[in-house]
Amino acid sequence: MDTAEIRRRFVAHFAEDTSVGAHAAVPSASLLLDDPTLLFVNAGMVPFKPFFLGQETPPYDRAVSVQKCVRTPDIEDVGKTTRHGTFFEMCGNFSFGDYFKEGAIRLAWELVTKPLADGGWELEESRLYPSILDGDDEALQLWKRITGVPDDRVIRLGPKENYWSMGVPGPGGPCSEILYDRGPAYGPDGDFGPKGEDRYLEIWNLVFMQDELGAVRSKEDFDIIGSLPNKNIDTGMGLERVAFLLQGVENMYEIDVMMPVIRRAEEISGKRYGADHDDDVRLRVVADHVRSGMMLIGDGVTPGNEGRGYVLRRLLRRAVRSMRLLGVEDRVLPELMPLSRDKMGETYESLITDWERISTVAYAEEDAFRQTLRAGTQIFDLATREVKQGGGHTLSGERAFALHDTYGFPIDLTLEMASEQGLVVDEVEFRRLMGEQRRRAQDDARSKKGRHRDASAYRAVADRLGRPVEFTGYAETVSEG
Ligand code: ATP
Ligand code: MG
Ligand code: MG
Ligand code: MG
Repeated sequence: MDTAEIRRRFVAHFAEDTSVGAHAAVPSASLLLDDPTLLFVNAGMVPFKPFFLGQETPPYDRAVSVQKCVRTPDIEDVGKTTRHGTFFEMCGNFSFGDYFKEGAIRLAWELVTKPLADGGWELEESRLYPSILDGDDEALQLWKRITGVPDDRVIRLGPKENYWSMGVPGPGGPCSEILYDRGPAYGPDGDFGPKGEDRYLEIWNLVFMQDELGAVRSKEDFDIIGSLPNKNIDTGMGLERVAFLLQGVENMYEIDVMMPVIRRAEEISGKRYGADHDDDVRLRVVADHVRSGMMLIGDGVTPGNEGRGYVLRRLLRRAVRSMRLLGVEDRVLPELMPLSRDKMGETYESLITDWERISTVAYAEEDAFRQTLRAGTQIFDLATREVKQGGGHTLSGERAFALHDTYGFPIDLTLEMASEQGLVVDEVEFRRLMGEQRRRAQDDARSKKGRHRDASAYRAVADRLGRPVEFTGYAETVSEG
C-alpha cells in the first residue's frame, strides 16, 4: 500500500467515523508556525495548541490531520535507526473536550486491525502491544476490554516514556502507545526499553490530556495540581513507520516516497545499497535530508547562519557531504531533489508549482557549499596533518574557529570531518572564542533585521546554561556553530 493510500485511510477513518461523530479534516499547517518555543512544527498537535491551552475556542470538537513535522534533535539518528527522519508526517486525531480515553483507544485499535478490504491496515493483532503509564489503571482496563489483549501484553512504562507535558505549567497527561513487534530477528523477546525499539516499533502515541500541572522540573518530576475541566485527546502516528511495515521494507527510508532518491544516489555514486553498512547509512541520510531540505524551502526557509536557516543549511550540506563520502564530487542536488519533488509533490502540490524557487535556493546553497569546501578543505587537511604528525588527537579550538570565521565551516562540519580523520575538536575553546566574537558583534546583531526571534530566544537560554537546551514535551532546539 503506498504512503498516499495509508494517509488517505487514516483521514477517512476519522473523518467518516460515526461512533463518536465525524472529525473535521484539517490540512497540514506550515512547518513554520509562529510559536516562540519551537523552531519548527514537530507534532500534529502544535497547530491546535491554542485550543488545548484554552486560549481559543475550536470551531470543531474533533479533528483529524496529517501534519508535516521536522525534528532536528533526531538528526543524529537518521539512517542509523530504522525510524527517525528529520522530516516526517504525523497523522493524528484530536478531541477538544469531546471523547476521551475510551474513544481514542477504540478508534486507534480499529484502524490498525481493520481488514484491508474494509479500509484498515490489517496489522496482525498478535504483534501489537499497547503500552500505558504505569498506574493508569483506567487505560489498562480499557485496553483489555476493548482489544481483548491479556493483562501481560500491556506494557507498563514510566513517566519518562509515557507522561506528556509541555515542560511548563499547563495541561499534561498519561500516554498509551501502540507498539508493533517486528519479530525476533530485530531483538530479544520482551525488551521494551530503548534498546528494544527496533524490534518493538512505536507506531502511535495517544495522549490523554487530563491533568493540570504546576511546576514541571523534569519529565519525571512534576506537580499535578488538578484535573482539566475539559479533557482532550491528542494522538500522533508516524506515517512513514506504518508505511514501512505495510510495504514490507526494512526501514522508513525505503518506502515509496523516499526510495527513488536512494536509487538515484546509487546510480550516480556507483554504490549498491545493501552492500556496506556505512554507505547504507549515508544513502539513507541523503534520502532524508534531501526531502527535509526541500520541504523546509517549500515552506519558506532560506539557508542562513542561525535558527531555521541554519538547520536548512546543515541538512543540505550534510546531504552533499554524504554524497562526497560516497565518492560523488559533482553537483548532486539537481540529480536527487527532483525525485523527491515528484513523490512528495503528489501530496504537496506547491512543491511542483513553486519548484523554480525551491530548486534555485537549494542548488545555490550547494554551489556556495562547494565553494566553501574548495577554500577550506586545504586548510583543514593541513591542520589535521599537523595534529597527526605531532602525535595529537585534538584539533584546537583556534583552528576550528578560524575555519568557521574565515572559511565559513560550521562547527558541525569541522566536527564531522575531524571525526572521519579520527580526531576530536576542542569544542570548549571553540565555543569560548565564538562567545567572545558574539559579544563583540552583539550591538550590531541586535539592530540587524531578519534575525529570527525564536532562535535568539533559544540562544539566550542556551547561553545562560552554557549548553544546548533540552526542553521536555514538544519543544526542540537546534545546536549551531
Ligand atoms: P521515538 O520514541 O521512536 O523517538 P517519539 O516518542 O519521540 O518516538 P512521539 O513524540 O510520541 O514520538 O510522536 C508520535 C509518533 O510520531 C511516534 O509514535 C512515531 O510514530 C512518529 N515519530 C516520532 N518521531 C519521528 C521521527 N523522527 N521520524 C519519523 N516518525 C517519527
Ligand atoms: Mg523521539
Ligand atoms: Mg517514544
Ligand atoms: Mg512517543
